[in-house]
Amino acid sequence: MKQKVLVIGAGIGGLTAGALLAKHGFEVTLLEASSEFGGSAGKFKRKSFLFPAGATLGMGLEPGGIHERVFRYLEKPMPLKPLETVMEMVHPGKTFVFLRDRDHHISQIFRYFPEHEKSLRDFYQEIYKTAFLVRTLMGPLPALPPANIKEWTGLLRSLRLKHGRLLPLFNKTLGQRLKVHRLDGLAPFRKMLDGLLIDSMQTDSEHVSFLLAAVALDIYHEGAYYVPGGLYQFAELMAESIQENGGMLKKRRTITKLEQNGSQWLATDQRGNSYEATDVVLNVPIQQFSSLMAPDLIAGLKKPLRTGMQTPTWTTLTLYIAVDANKLLAPLPPFRQISTGSGDSLTEGEHFFMSASRIGDLLRAPEGYQTVTVSTHSKAQLWDTKEKYDAMREILTNRMLLAIEQVIPYFRDAIVHLETGAPKGWERYTGRPNGYVGGFPQTLDNALFRSISHHSGLPGLYVCGDHIFPGGGTIGAAASGIHAARSVSGNRLV
Ligand SMILES: Cc1cc2nc3c(=O)[nH]c(=O)nc-3n(C[C@H](O)[C@H](O)[C@H](O)COP(=O)(O)OP(=O)(O)OC[C@H]3O[C@@H](n4cnc5c(N)ncnc54)[C@H](O)[C@@H]3O)c2cc1C
Repeated sequence: MKQKVLVIGAGIGGLTAGALLAKHGFEVTLLEASSEFGGSAGKFKRKSFLFPAGATLGMGLEPGGIHERVFRYLEKPMPLKPLETVMEMVHPGKTFVFLRDRDHHISQIFRYFPEHEKSLRDFYQEIYKTAFLVRTLMGPLPALPPANIKEWTGLLRSLRLKHGRLLPLFNKTLGQRLKVHRLDGLAPFRKMLDGLLIDSMQTDSEHVSFLLAAVALDIYHEGAYYVPGGLYQFAELMAESIQENGGMLKKRRTITKLEQNGSQWLATDQRGNSYEATDVVLNVPIQQFSSLMAPDLIAGLKKPLRTGMQTPTWTTLTLYIAVDANKLLAPLPPFRQISTGSGDSLTEGEHFFMSASRIGDLLRAPEGYQTVTVSTHSKAQLWDTKEKYDAMREILTNRMLLAIEQVIPYFRDAIVHLETGAPKGWERYTGRPNGYVGGFPQTLDNALFRSISHHSGLPGLYVCGDHIFPGGGTIGAAASGIHAARSVSGNRLV
């Protein structure tokens, strides 16, 4: 008889775990609260427009990339060409372009700071060399922090002599390395790095772990993708695979209780239906756990997980816009960051990420129209009363629209649909308490050996998603799903 596994939450983490396990022969039941798969990387429709809920920029599809490996294992390849121009980074007085080609990319940066060319060259050389070394560990993909002998052995086996070069960098921040390269005072350059890092690592260049920053600053060179329709395709493809491999997918099932019944786990949904299995992969945001499990179970969870459950993260305000592209001077590029003001703020609409569908991507919008998402980081405490909430929504919306119009003339005139995704909306549609999205900032306190393991601490209960090692983004969530699937199956799988 097939071994049963429950996967709770159809975000990228849960779907990855579920799809791998179903393909490997497990009997997978996937329970999802909403009517869509993908969570923060899902979608919703408004009339003829399709909007990505959150994630838009695809990564990990290059040969050997995390999603590519999963899709290859599922025999559902997604062959796409990487973008040569990944995004524009608009800053006061300077617009940088992230180019896929490393040499072209840094040459463009030298042009802005000719007097720092030597330091910048050395800095990028260190970034790229470090990222290359870290990437050689992504094949075996060891789980951190190692939780048992098998994971320690896996980690030690994946290490080679050359990885010794990473050791002195382990407890360094990017800020410290910038100082060594005498680039710490080069404000416009740092602001550009800050913008990239807040969106990928949830923190700035001063505080981010150097090793993770190196990967984040290098990863678009490996491949960044526009996925026709949107990243929800990842979710749909994995859901389809689960079904094809005999798994069961159940939408509109909000799990309200998770109990242990001898060696079995018992999950109960909002309608009172129960589901039993020896193994559970829990992909719901960790801040929900205390409302799902009784205090004695919570007490059995690993300490970093219990601490993480109490730790707020960023929330967001997202704008979902459809534009008539004929009213613009030119169609919008797929990806662009806009940073305003001269201050250091990377949040509250003073820095935001803007994604647009391609003209002709008819899965997203009718011919001549584009759907656009704009998202900014925000502090959850700024939204904690009705008055503050309403004011924040209005202020940030206007701030971002104003900033967009400085870069894209006639933008407001071109809008045919606009709605906002504020923290409570995120909570309602993706189950993220207080609208906490994106996972933890990848600072030295949260990253690598200090991150949260996919082993919950309770037998048969595994956790995955963007709060779990290695962290946020669809790649991070998928990697934690791979680790959960490896632990359930006892096999490497991918
Ligand atoms: C605005 C925004 C933009 C982003 N842009 C990018 C990007 O461009 N590229 C990128 O790689 N990443 C991006 N990210 C990050 C990325 O989307 C997330 O890190 C990743 O998708 C999270 O996956 P997850 O597995 O943690 O699951 P989640 O997305 O959190 O999904 C969890 C699922 O569990 C369900 N659920 C919750 N509670 C229950 C319950 N009690 N019972 C049953 N089901 C439940 C939810 O409905 C949801 O479907 C972005 C995030 C945001 C918010």
